[in-house]
Amino acid sequence: MSIKITEECINCGACEPECPNHAIYEGGKKWRMSDGTTLHDKKNPHFFMNDIIENPPKKKDIYFIVSEKCTECVGFYNKPQCVIICPVQCCVPDNDNIETKEELFIKKNLLHGIN
Ligand code: SF4
Ligand code: SF4
Repeated sequence: MSIKITEECINCGACEPECPNHAIYEGGKKWRMSDGTTLHDKKNPHFFMNDIIENPPKKKDIYFIVSEKCTECVGFYNKPQCVIICPVQCCVPDNDNIETKEELFIKKNLLHGIN
């Protein structure tokens, strides 16, 4: 399952640098699968041109999480770091993007080029 950011976000920015997958973006920012991952490397067997193309922001006014990149911190930490650091507890489970731990591991390996 991915984590999502609710409308209670106060735009403090504390969560963004904590994400091991670079899945958190400031409102209004464009995002790429390759940001902060090995998917920018054309030698990566999982590389696709779409990975380096900029996508439109998912939110304009508050920080947002790219569910395609969020692994709930699986593979790095045993707890979601954004949930821990958010001062207003607005990082919550995203029930629209439910994945098993195994699927999250696969996603993490795709993002970081480990098979
Ligand atoms: Fe990033 Fe982890 Fe938060 Fe997902 S749960 S957005 S991987 S810090
Ligand atoms: Fe928003 Fe919480 Fe992230 Fe601060 S830590 S930007 S309040 S989601």
